Amino acid sequence: MIALMFGPPGSGKGTQASRVAVLLGIPHIAAGDMLRDEVAHDTALGHEAKPIMDAGGLVPDDLVVRMIESSLNQPDAGKGVLLDGFPRTVPQAITLDAMLARLNEKVDEVISLEVPDDELKTRILKRATTEGRSDDTAEGLAQRLVVYRQETAPVLEHYSAAGTRIDAINGVGDIDAITDRIMEALRQNGAVAGTA
Ligand code: ADP
Repeated sequence: MIALMFGPPGSGKGTQASRVAVLLGIPHIAAGDMLRDEVAHDTALGHEAKPIMDAGGLVPDDLVVRMIESSLNQPDAGKGVLLDGFPRTVPQAITLDAMLARLNEKVDEVISLEVPDDELKTRILKRATTEGRSDDTAEGLAQRLVVYRQETAPVLEHYSAAGTRIDAINGVGDIDAITDRIMEALRQNGAVAGTA
């Protein structure tokens, strides 16, 4: 199954995606983690991405696409992947669809985490004190929310128009409870086997 974990910054995409990927037995491909890794290793891509990420902007599509394409071509991606933080723009979604079409695949499922803005702000400012991510500042967050609405939210419309299954999940509450909600939604719509 090719699934996307979708949601605004601070919605818990990364946390939920890593748990759900383990439960589904498929790799978790996280664009933000991969970019932070490039920054940590001071690669040319990391060098270009860091100031953009710190300002809350989006790294250019072609750079992110190249990075994701190489991980989709890994042999273990064949049985499915859970993508997190990609696609983040409609052009990225169109490129992903074309890459998958070449592999006779498509996006089967979008898991959309819904969290109100006030809660996002509280979470990110709290994360700033614990994880020290250089983009977790009040200004960085405000910009990421603007970019999310303008560039990323239309990705959901893209998949909705394509008839892709979209599960809207309440992303507020206990981490375990949210994972349960996601798994239950996947069972309900037949994306994974088993009963609750
Ligand atoms: P969050 O969802 O909390 O903003 P991520 O770890 O998913 O955190 O992303 C952090 C930053 O990495 C983004 O603000 C953006 O600058 C960059 N980034 C991540 N994924 C993409 C992408 N698909 N396209 C462009 N930039 C991206």
